[in-house]
Amino acid sequence: MENQKTNKTEEEWKKILTPQQYYVLRQKGTEPPFSGKYYMHFEKGIYKCAACGYELFSSDMKFESHCGWPSFDDELGNNDRIIKHPDYSHGMIRTEILCARCGSHLGHLFDDGPTKTGKRYCVNSLSIEFEPKNDK
Ligand code: FE
Repeated sequence: MENQKTNKTEEEWKKILTPQQYYVLRQKGTEPPFSGKYYMHFEKGIYKCAACGYELFSSDMKFESHCGWPSFDDELGNNDRIIKHPDYSHGMIRTEILCARCGSHLGHLFDDGPTKTGKRYCVNSLSIEFEPKNDK
């Protein structure tokens, strides 16, 4: 069930995720820029939530942003797969993005994107898992 909510306890997440993934996904951490496996990754396929497997982005939405994190200009679905939430931490006003199915932290959404959508979903590599799709 794609839209079914995933409700796991933090103890359960700790067993499933690596410590680095747990820090980003469940404790809203940020991986160091240029450290992740996907910021320079441009194969064809789908990017899923690394915690629950929900399909969030496609490679068609990915663009090179030079910011050190994977960046997308749109999301899969009908604007219902990613929760946008105001984030006032670190003295900034930002929009946090979270997986709508499991509530895990993905990154932040900015309105300074260079493509026609004007959006920049700035996502931690640790928060997503790539699945190649060769049928496109
Ligand atoms: Fe998820």
